[in-house]
Amino acid sequence: MSSPVWHPFTQHALTPDFPLVSRGEGVWLETDKGRLLDAISSWWVITHGHRHPKIVAAIKAQADQLDQVIFANLTHQPAEDVARELIAIAPLGLSHVFYSDSGSTAVEVALKMALGFWKNGGKPRTKIIALEHAYHGDTVGTMSPGARGVFTDAYAPFLFDVVRLPFPAAGREQETLDMLKVAAKDAAALIVEPLILGSGGMLIYSPEVLRALAVICRRNGTLLIADEVMTGFGRTGTLFACKQAGVAPDIMCLSKGLTGGSLPLAVTLCTPEIFQAHYSQDRSRTFFHSSSFTANPIACAAARANLEIWQDEPVLERIAGLADMQEERLARFRADSRFTNVRRLGTIAALELTVPDPGYLSGIGPRLMAFFLERGVLLRPLGNTIYVMPPYGVTAAELDLVYDAIAAAGQKFGIK
Ligand SMILES: *Cc1c(COP(=O)(O)O)cnc(C)c1O
Repeated sequence: MSSPVWHPFTQHALTPDFPLVSRGEGVWLETDKGRLLDAISSWWVITHGHRHPKIVAAIKAQADQLDQVIFANLTHQPAEDVARELIAIAPLGLSHVFYSDSGSTAVEVALKMALGFWKNGGKPRTKIIALEHAYHGDTVGTMSPGARGVFTDAYAPFLFDVVRLPFPAAGREQETLDMLKVAAKDAAALIVEPLILGSGGMLIYSPEVLRALAVICRRNGTLLIADEVMTGFGRTGTLFACKQAGVAPDIMCLSKGLTGGSLPLAVTLCTPEIFQAHYSQDRSRTFFHSSSFTANPIACAAARANLEIWQDEPVLERIAGLADMQEERLARFRADSRFTNVRRLGTIAALELTVPDPGYLSGIGPRLMAFFLERGVLLRPLGNTIYVMPPYGVTAAELDLVYDAIAAAGQKFGIK
């Protein structure tokens, strides 16, 4: 019998059957078609590995206490604790934490906070600036600052306009900065994925550019929104990517690694000024946003356990070790003409397989994924861009399996 389930970002006409996953442990997934090495951290969320014992224990304990409660006018300890700890480790200047439940909602909240800040301040700015190739989510609001294309065409009439800055590729940075200097004069906010654009193809830009973008925003009073939904919690080598650039955003979005990847949860952090713009005896200035599961206690308990793991375990050393292991394994591909743009930022490695039809819709994408699955490796290339983003606990031998599969794919599909 065919399944009634409609899967995300999946072309069912081209995907006949799905492995049924029954169990996860560390970097491994058990399926009815055999074991899979999760080399993309289950869509970038799993940081320490599947089912970290401390996170599992925290979830069980919280489920025994309080499952869910309305978060308007009530609070609970896991949410209070996580908020306090996040403020302690976040870039300086962030003082308040608004909870939601996915990266997209964290970004929606960020955009609404920025617009509310300007409206309540009595000088409404409504212009949003975003980067070429950006990705900020799949809701109508977050698709707007995201790159336009085949993903957004059907919804184009409903997306709001943004000012689009060219991607600050090496050598082209000045163009981006010059355009921002003009656009920032009357803009509400610039939204960026700091240092690396994920879904746009693992495109890396320098900390100096991020710093320069932040300076221009500051000079013009334009709010800087750091969408750290992917980059947060160590992916780029530091806890947050902004820290590498010494940048303090006005608003920061976190989600994927917040619970170690175990449960859906998101936060939008902001400065006192943004909170104050919504703080008033006048109820029309309330921040009008909620989701039913805002700050779900079990998810917050998982996040609290994740933050404890960051304190108690040598996570940053593990990340540095993974970064080195990735770099060593990339070396053989730098000398191989079947691959181009071999690159790495922190724990994230990416490279392009040379094909006649590069791009996201490259015919090679689904064939590559199937090829890797057959070899027991879960990779989901963005077109002909192959990237490796494993949980931090992956071992050298496990990583070798991933790169051997990539090398085999090069042999089979690459052109010299
Ligand atoms: C994944 C992602 C989002 C969206 O998060 P969801 O939880 O999938 O809604 C937003 N921004 C960035 C940078 C992301 O990588």
